[in-house]
Amino acid sequence: MTRTLTNWAGNITYTAGELHRPSSLDALRALVAGSSRVRVLGSGHSFNEIAEPGPDGVLLSLAALPPAVDVDTAARTVRVSGGVRYAELARRVHEHELALHNMASLPHISVAGSVATGTHGSGVTNGSLAAAVREVELITADGSTLVIGRDEERFGGAVTSLGALGVVTALTLDLEPDFEVSQHVFTELPLEGLDFEAVAASAYSVSLFTDWGRPGFRQVWLKRRTDRPSPDFPWAAPATGPVHPVPGMPARNCTEQLGVPGPWHERLPHFRAEFTPSSGAELQSEYLLARSDAMAALHALDAIRAAVAPVLQICEVRTVAADDQWLSPAYGRDTVAVHFTWIEDTAAVLPVVRRVERALEPFGPRPHWGKVFTVPPEVLRERSPRLDGFRALAAGLDPAGTFANAFVRDFLGSPS
Ligand SMILES: Cc1cc2nc3c(=O)[nH]c(=O)nc-3n(C[C@H](O)[C@H](O)[C@H](O)COP(=O)(O)OP(=O)(O)OC[C@H]3O[C@@H](n4cnc5c(N)ncnc54)[C@H](O)[C@@H]3O)c2cc1C
Repeated sequence: MTRTLTNWAGNITYTAGELHRPSSLDALRALVAGSSRVRVLGSGHSFNEIAEPGPDGVLLSLAALPPAVDVDTAARTVRVSGGVRYAELARRVHEHELALHNMASLPHISVAGSVATGTHGSGVTNGSLAAAVREVELITADGSTLVIGRDEERFGGAVTSLGALGVVTALTLDLEPDFEVSQHVFTELPLEGLDFEAVAASAYSVSLFTDWGRPGFRQVWLKRRTDRPSPDFPWAAPATGPVHPVPGMPARNCTEQLGVPGPWHERLPHFRAEFTPSSGAELQSEYLLARSDAMAALHALDAIRAAVAPVLQICEVRTVAADDQWLSPAYGRDTVAVHFTWIEDTAAVLPVVRRVERALEPFGPRPHWGKVFTVPPEVLRERSPRLDGFRALAAGLDPAGTFANAFVRDFLGSPS
């Protein structure tokens, strides 16, 4: 059967005529070994052509493989198979009174697809979701299985890998003891005089939201762990009822607020698993830069807010702790991540994306791998200090470039 295959947002149509859904690892191995170009589609929540295999390539989904979520309570780890989404993973981990260190804004996304792009939540001490990974299991281009663990040097390229090394069939993640979180929203935080470091560190996870219609932030979301001290938040007034960060969207789509404590996985994401996350009709971009540049970058954006606001639904500012995944946008630097949820109109949005990129250029931002950006490949390469290590790893594991689509080839370029 032929049908049109698109990503979640609908802005990308995959050229592959068919989505292959092998139902066993043997079938998956045979499919990979018999194909010259392969890309895996996770839950399809990326906004660019990162998963596109090209017209002659094979696009495959792991959704028909038997799902596995195997929790080892003694070791405090979980082994999760390649097609599982965070909603299911978190529910099963919580049943064992254990927790992940952090989650993204939504639980709808696949674990393998998320860590492949460096997906993150917020918190000055919280690394990206890839930081929890201790072992990766891959099917490589010849159909064989390869396991890469955290104690190996090449592990640095193996998790946030853009899907360029092979099919990730399982990941083992670190867990920690269960914890509860209470979520508090504050409104109207001024930009002028903002002590960004203090605000960003004022809870386990902090998100600042603005529509850039006027200076400052419309909402600040604090996710406080109930097992840790929670400093006062003197800079803005508490919201009087539950809210959605995107103006006009219903608060019932969002996780519980007003300080009601609850399990980590029902508070760390902004959006509930059973509802459409965000606005549902949108494009997204995000840029990650050194946290020490946060205030200068926010002022640079404030200076162009008249251009940004008309095509923006909401902008979110978060923090990510430095990590050591070579291609991670948070590699080697404590990071501030500035995210944009745009209207669903590529032609209107792209010129503003370029404007934002120009405004942020002095700070050497790395774009989120799964979102809309126009930063040229040669500039991306300059901002990727461990590019050579990744090139060598990809060339060794995938010499014929089976998993290198146009997106990956453009980025990797040729070694100098
Ligand atoms: C509403 C919404 C909210 C979002 N919120 C956040 C957020 O809070 N924080 C954030 O950082 N990002 C966020 N994102 C972006 C999203 O997390 C990333 O795009 C993420 O990569 C999506 O995961 P996916 O499973 O849908 O991956 P896909 O988009 O399907 O794939 C991403 C990449 O992973 C590869 N891949 C997927 N599965 C495998 C596998 N098993 N083996 C090998 N390669 C694989 C694909 O080939 C592709 O290269 C959001 C996106 C949406 C739509």
